[in-house]
Amino acid sequence: MKIFPVFIPHFGCPFRCIYCNQKFITKIEEPFFDDIKNRIENFCKNNSGIEKEIAFFGGTFTRLSKDEQRKCFELIKPFETEISGIRISTRPDSINNEILTFCKENNIKTIELGIQSFDDDVLTASHRGYDAKTALKSCELIKSYKFNLGVQLMPGLPKFSANSLKNTINSTIDAAPHFVRIYPTIVLSGTELENIFKSGKYLPLTMEEAIRTTSQMIQRFEEKNIKIIKVGLHSDIEEKYIVAGPYHHAFGELVRAEILKNKILKDFEDKTLMISSSDVSLFKGFNSKMLNDLKQRTKLKNIPIKISSKLEKNRFLFTDKQPDYIW
Ligand code: SF4
Repeated sequence: MKIFPVFIPHFGCPFRCIYCNQKFITKIEEPFFDDIKNRIENFCKNNSGIEKEIAFFGGTFTRLSKDEQRKCFELIKPFETEISGIRISTRPDSINNEILTFCKENNIKTIELGIQSFDDDVLTASHRGYDAKTALKSCELIKSYKFNLGVQLMPGLPKFSANSLKNTINSTIDAAPHFVRIYPTIVLSGTELENIFKSGKYLPLTMEEAIRTTSQMIQRFEEKNIKIIKVGLHSDIEEKYIVAGPYHHAFGELVRAEILKNKILKDFEDKTLMISSSDVSLFKGFNSKMLNDLKQRTKLKNIPIKISSKLEKNRFLFTDKQPDYIW
């Protein structure tokens, strides 16, 4: 699936959420419709034969007036036959039967809900304005209308705890969305969270905690066949806008390395470790962090490695074959 994003920063939002600054995330302050026809045309040309959606991201689409929504649909009408549908992001408290009927009538196929947490303490402390029950009901309603449902989650918000994580994982599994995005909370400048952080009343997750938490979520979701389509904020946010929190340009890779490491440790045998050629960067990247963790946990000085181009990414096995390398 290829997505052409049209950003509508904070448009339709009932208020500014404490952690959100779309200006820094999307790098625009106003919807950028200039030249949109040409840009979408190129997108369609470059992705012919591939399933495509045009997405309205960065605001609360279903809280725009119907006229404003119609204007958005008009913009992309010329491409109706080339795309499989429209994707929008919105809030769980901005969904009802009338809204979903309007979405259905206008070729919306995928709805992403910025739920962030299914824990009432976290939602209250983060002033989200809805509770976990509302979030779950919205998921059910969206699925009953046969939209593709995406859920966005933010571990590490105020009042985040082992218990809130458990609630969020379990409720997400109950909601059974088609896909999930996970964004560990980052303190961005110009947000209310920055003030709370600077007053000493909030601490974001450390990088280690964020990696551990995110890998735990992914493993539980993937066991239930819930797809993960994005992990961590995108890599080109300017660092000057990041006040605190576990931001890394390759956060997703760090998490994948953690998951693979845990699986290897679980099945560990004192033999040659055969890994996929696609995973070499996970072992050797980030100053060989994963490799060093493995050695530390197994108390081995070196690990015999065989690299296979036939082994799928994120797969491994232990073998009696001679190693290619001693790492
Ligand atoms: S998190 Fe979503 S609803 Fe809140 S301000 Fe940002 S875009 Fe709007």
